[in-house]
Amino acid sequence: MKGFAMLKIGEVGWIEKDRPKCGPRDAIVRPTALAPCTSDVHTVWEGAIGDRHNMILGHEAVGIVDEVGDEVKDFKPGDRVIVPAITPDWDSEAVQRGYPSQTGGPCGGWKYSNFKDGVFGEYFHVNLADNNLAHLPEGMSQEAAVMITDMMSTGFMGAENAGIELGSTVAVLGIGAVGLCGVAGAKLLGAGRIFAVGTRPISVEVAKKYGATDIISYKNGDTADQILEATDGVGVDGVIVSGGGPEILLDALKMAKAGSKISNNNYFGKGQGEKDTIPLCRVNWGFGMADKDIITGLCPGGRTRMERLADLVTYGRMDPELMVTHTFKGFDKIEDALELMREKPRDLIKPVVLL
Ligand code: NDP
Ligand code: ZN
Repeated sequence: MKGFAMLKIGEVGWIEKDRPKCGPRDAIVRPTALAPCTSDVHTVWEGAIGDRHNMILGHEAVGIVDEVGDEVKDFKPGDRVIVPAITPDWDSEAVQRGYPSQTGGPCGGWKYSNFKDGVFGEYFHVNLADNNLAHLPEGMSQEAAVMITDMMSTGFMGAENAGIELGSTVAVLGIGAVGLCGVAGAKLLGAGRIFAVGTRPISVEVAKKYGATDIISYKNGDTADQILEATDGVGVDGVIVSGGGPEILLDALKMAKAGSKISNNNYFGKGQGEKDTIPLCRVNWGFGMADKDIITGLCPGGRTRMERLADLVTYGRMDPELMVTHTFKGFDKIEDALELMREKPRDLIKPVVLL
C-alpha cells in the first residue's frame, strides 16, 4: 500500500509498505478524512523527537473499519469511526495511575508516526479497537470529526489543566487550532474574561466566535505587559500556552498571578541533548516559590474522550468546522496539505484532506 512518510529529518515522500496486520483486539482502518498537524511539522523539519526513517506520517483521521480481530466486540468492517490521535495501551501501568497518554514512557500513547506508521496510508492499524475507536455519530461531517481527534482534545485539555473556575480570567497564548480550542474550552468551563493572543485575522475572527473577550497581538509589544495593563497589573488566573517558541513561558510566568496554572500544550521543537533547556524567569517565578504551577500534557486519547468531545459537537456546544479553512480532495493531496501546514499562510487555520 501507499503512504506519505517522513523519510528522514527534513525529508518527506511517498513510499510503499505492506498493509498492517491486525491483532486479535485490533482494527485496520481505511481513512476517509485526514488532517496534517503542526506536530508533523515539528517532527519532520525540526527533528523534534529524533530521526524517524520511512515512517508514515499523520495522526488525525476519520475512517471506515476494514478489518477487526476476533476479540473486538463493538466494531465491525464498514463502521465509520473517529480515530483518536493518541491510542494508549489501556492495560498498562501508566493508565492505572491515571496517565494514559504516557503509556510506555513520555508521550508513549502517541504511537502514530512516533513508534509505528501513522494514518497517512491507504490503511492504518489501531491497537485495542474497542478502547481506541469511537463510532462517528450520525450526521456529523468528516471535517468536524477529524478536528476532534487532536485539536479539540488537546486544546480542551489545555483549558482543563488551567484550573479554570467560574469567572476566572484566562489568557490563551497562540490561537492556531489548538489555542482556539483552548478558548472554546475556557468558555465552556466558565471563564469570565478570555484574552486570545495571535495575529492571523481568520484566527482572531474564530477566537471571538469561540468566546474570546480581548484580542492581543504579540507583535504590538510585550504580550505580558499588554495583559498586565489590561488587568490593572493583576494578571490572570490561568494561562493556556499554545503557540510561539520556548520563550513564551517567560510571557506566561510574567502574566500569571499567584495560584495560577500555566497549562502548556506546546510541542517544543528543537534540541535533543540533556543540556537543551527551556527558559523560566527566576524573578517572575518567585525564585521558584511563586505558587505558579506549570502543567504539561499530551492530547488525551481513547474512545470515551472522543465520544464526549463528539457530544459537545452534536449538541451544539462547539463548532469545530469553523477551524477548517482549506479542504483538499484526494489521497495524493496529503502532501500539499502538509506543505500548507508548514508554510502557515495568513488565511490558514487547518486544512483537511477528504478521500
Ligand atoms: P499554529 O502554528 O497554527 O498556531 C500558533 C499560534 O501561536 C498562532 O496563533 C500564532 O500567531 C501564535 N504565536 C506565534 N508566536 C507567538 C508569540 N511569540 N506569542 C504569542 N503567540 C504566538 O499551531 P497549532 O495551533 O497547530 O499548534 C500549537 C502547538 O500545539 C504546536 O506546538 C503543536 O505542535 C502543539 N500540539 C501539541 C499537542 C499536544 O498533545 N500537547 C497536540 C497537537 C499540537 P499568528 O496568528 O501570528 O500566526
Ligand atoms: Zn497533532
